[in-house]
Amino acid sequence: MVAAGPPESGWPAAREQGPSAGRKSRRNDPVRRCGTASWSKPLSVLLALPGRIGRPSLDKAVSRGEGDNKVENDPTEALRRRAAQVMPGGVSSNIRLVEGPEAILVRRAEGARVWDEAGREYLDYVAGYGAMLFGYAPPALNATLASTLAEGTQFSSTHRREIELAEMLVAAMPSLERVRFHSTGTEAVQTAFRLARGFTGRPTIVKFRQHYHGWLIPGDAALPAGEATTDDFAENGPPIVTLPWNDGEAAQRFLRRNADWIAGVITEPLMANLGGHDPAKGYLQALRALTEALGIVFVLDEVITGFRLGLGGAQGYYGIRPDLTTFGKALGGGMPIGAVGGRADIMDLIADGRVNHSGTFNGNSLSMAAGRWTLETLRRAGACFYESLFERSRALMDGLARAAEAAGIAVALRGPGPVFWLVFEADEAARAALPAGAPPPAEPPLYRRFRLGMQAEGIRLTPGGRWYVMDAHSNADIALTLDRAAAVLRSLSS
Ligand code: PMP
Repeated sequence: MVAAGPPESGWPAAREQGPSAGRKSRRNDPVRRCGTASWSKPLSVLLALPGRIGRPSLDKAVSRGEGDNKVENDPTEALRRRAAQVMPGGVSSNIRLVEGPEAILVRRAEGARVWDEAGREYLDYVAGYGAMLFGYAPPALNATLASTLAEGTQFSSTHRREIELAEMLVAAMPSLERVRFHSTGTEAVQTAFRLARGFTGRPTIVKFRQHYHGWLIPGDAALPAGEATTDDFAENGPPIVTLPWNDGEAAQRFLRRNADWIAGVITEPLMANLGGHDPAKGYLQALRALTEALGIVFVLDEVITGFRLGLGGAQGYYGIRPDLTTFGKALGGGMPIGAVGGRADIMDLIADGRVNHSGTFNGNSLSMAAGRWTLETLRRAGACFYESLFERSRALMDGLARAAEAAGIAVALRGPGPVFWLVFEADEAARAALPAGAPPPAEPPLYRRFRLGMQAEGIRLTPGGRWYVMDAHSNADIALTLDRAAAVLRSLSS
């Protein structure tokens, strides 16, 4: 399950550890922690003592009960009003609108915790929407960023940190022969589309229903949609066609009939953006073989899964070799990053401008240093890092399933662990019963009640049902989460 690490050669020695490296606690350092059997009380011990968990890990934990978490002179409302005056919706990204008027305004973050503008502390599973694999503000990463900052951030030239990160990526996954950097996953996906079109000379990209590949995809609000309603589509068909996922026969039929038009197929390895469904056994492999046979570029979108499921990515985890891969999020340890990589014969179309690829901030030194630190830390921690992350994630998923069962609420827990979904079956049934074409609510209503209940208990979740586990989540944090989830689930069922 855990991908093998890359060979020693090609990996620069960790030399940007900074002055605080020696003072790091074991808890904050995955490399040192992995040398020990365990770095907090075993989960089995904590879970066996639910009544004695107490509340110690939330220093200024909010107290139980609606409206009980009020703080005097709370600036949150005033800040929300100011934000709404000058930023549409009061946010910088529309996903944040889904949190609604109860959205937390985070002031600072450290480890597995965030603190809001009123000083309330939350144990956090938002994890920068997957960007924070280790946790917030790891001291060793901060030291690396500080020393990089001192040397300047924006050279607009090829530079050493960028070359080293590219070498590390190429060493990490056999499918990567060349890489180029961006500042976001959205850009990396758009570059992959251009490369697929340039390489094949064909116009159309096939994506899958309810997969997300950034916010510039036709079919999203305010861009023309392209849904394949039959097995064929008209000449000069839409630039993006959407097929059902996990349906090997539908893909076979459509791709075989329309191969002459199809430049690329892009898929998330699992449904990390909606519902958490795993790929059916053999499905990704079949898609890979089919696209290869038809001369279609196969793009794996690892913006979420890259370095969350293993150093070898989801492609190592599921055992497939895409033509192109897109990365973002966790690669940058919280710094803005995107990357696209893959076969040299495809990637080299951008070497001489046959396909354009540009960007002022591409390869900026802070993002590159953060990427180097991320991959170097994962390599040094070895398999233990992912074994431990998966173990804690599975314990959290199993515990949530048990807590829901005890409360008499039907739920599904889906996903590999470090990213997973908690789905209320009542919400899924309500969604399925919607009349055709009716938009689903921004957030499933029962999950919303659960999430706000958890927030009142000092646990911050993403809207909708997706959870990200960070290395900073200790066994005690997971036990605490389960204790509070049990109470919230009971309150939902009463
Ligand atoms: N692809 C996937 C699978 C994603 O989940 C996301 C973001 N959630 C993107 C692409 C776009 O990345 P970004 O938000 O960095 O542009």
